[in-house]
Amino acid sequence: MTITYDIAIVGGGIMGCASALRMGEGGMQPLVLDQSDLGQGASGVNAGTLSLQIKRVRLMPYALKGHHEWEAMGEAVGFHKTGGYTLAFTEREAALLHERQTLKAVAGAPITFVSDRQIREAEPGLTRKVLAASYCPEDGYANSSLTGQYFRRRLRDAGIAYRERCPVTAIERGLKGFTLTTADGQVHAQRLLLAAGAWLKPVAALLGVELPVQARINTVSVTERMPPLVSSVIGHATGLLTMKQKPNGSVLVGGGWQGRGAPQEGRGQVMAESVQPNLALAQYALPALAKARVLRSWTGFEANVPDFYPLAGALPGVGNAFVLGCVRGGYTIGPYIGKLMGDFILGREPELPLFDPARRFEEETT
Ligand SMILES: Cc1cc2nc3c(=O)[nH]c(=O)nc-3n(C[C@H](O)[C@H](O)[C@H](O)COP(=O)(O)OP(=O)(O)OC[C@H]3O[C@@H](n4cnc5c(N)ncnc54)[C@H](O)[C@@H]3O)c2cc1C
Repeated sequence: MTITYDIAIVGGGIMGCASALRMGEGGMQPLVLDQSDLGQGASGVNAGTLSLQIKRVRLMPYALKGHHEWEAMGEAVGFHKTGGYTLAFTEREAALLHERQTLKAVAGAPITFVSDRQIREAEPGLTRKVLAASYCPEDGYANSSLTGQYFRRRLRDAGIAYRERCPVTAIERGLKGFTLTTADGQVHAQRLLLAAGAWLKPVAALLGVELPVQARINTVSVTERMPPLVSSVIGHATGLLTMKQKPNGSVLVGGGWQGRGAPQEGRGQVMAESVQPNLALAQYALPALAKARVLRSWTGFEANVPDFYPLAGALPGVGNAFVLGCVRGGYTIGPYIGKLMGDFILGREPELPLFDPARRFEEETT
């Protein structure tokens, strides 16, 4: 007997899985399909930083709600609420920090500015060269390598079907819904959600839809285990550094430095000229890192559109098809915006507005 699912979800990252869970709770029968294993795309290789201080102002309400979702997931995803400091070392960075964090505080984030004495007392391992700093008690991190196993268990417990190592290679729209060609044969569904992350462009093209999605190739590095050096999440006013020391002592360093490659070509390439300044900035902030050996650097693909706001809503021009992705800070916001997307597809009013994929894209910077 052929099953017709209520909805087929292409992409089993944090967006696809969180949406599936919400729709399952709402009585729908979704099927999640992933070309790899669940949570092995951006959702499984990211730096895990859950920081309100590095989110865009307009996304602040979504990020705040996202933080609550992570807190509820707790230990199963390696969640730690540590608080976080964002540092400025020069007058220019201090002005940037002040401007950006004030806007975020006005938008609802509990961000305050702290004196150099306060920061020295709280984090004695940080450099004495901090000129200005902000603090947010909500900041923390989770362990992205647990994303896949966490959501696999949640889907299984909720009785939601998923297929791994099952790339979708063609999609046809018929009178009764969609037929997807996959590595596992054909799949039928009344609705469709594209949640394919950095692969959204080629996946939407299967339906003849052109989405202005680009891929960034972010790099993350990890050191060997070190004695306790820092207990909070540390960022930099420019956004070019995120750093935290994990419970096992290793220090994870990111900040959106770029590697090379394209999602369709497999893994991205780590570039020494990108990793070196990232590590130099980390070491400037936390001088004891000079003694740490870097064990591994890796890349992952993050999707964005020209205005750097999410694609979350109806897929332009295709009835009963939806798209969710391109969320800046998408690991933090994913569990919440996935719920909003699920509500929208269930025909409910989402608690916060979605982001119409058919809008005109204009570049924004804050
Ligand atoms: C290196 C890096 C560091 C980051 N650091 C942070 C951070 O510290 N904090 C933060 O909040 N955010 C961070 N992000 C952003 C965050 O990871 C992403 O926004 C988020 O994980 C995107 O989730 P997603 O589900 O949209 O995409 P993904 O997790 O990439 O999921 C998309 C899925 O679609 C699947 N797929 C693609 N094509 C097909 C197909 N044809 N058929 C079937 N399946 C398909 C892929 O296999 C993949 O599993 C970082 C991103 C990267 C890359």
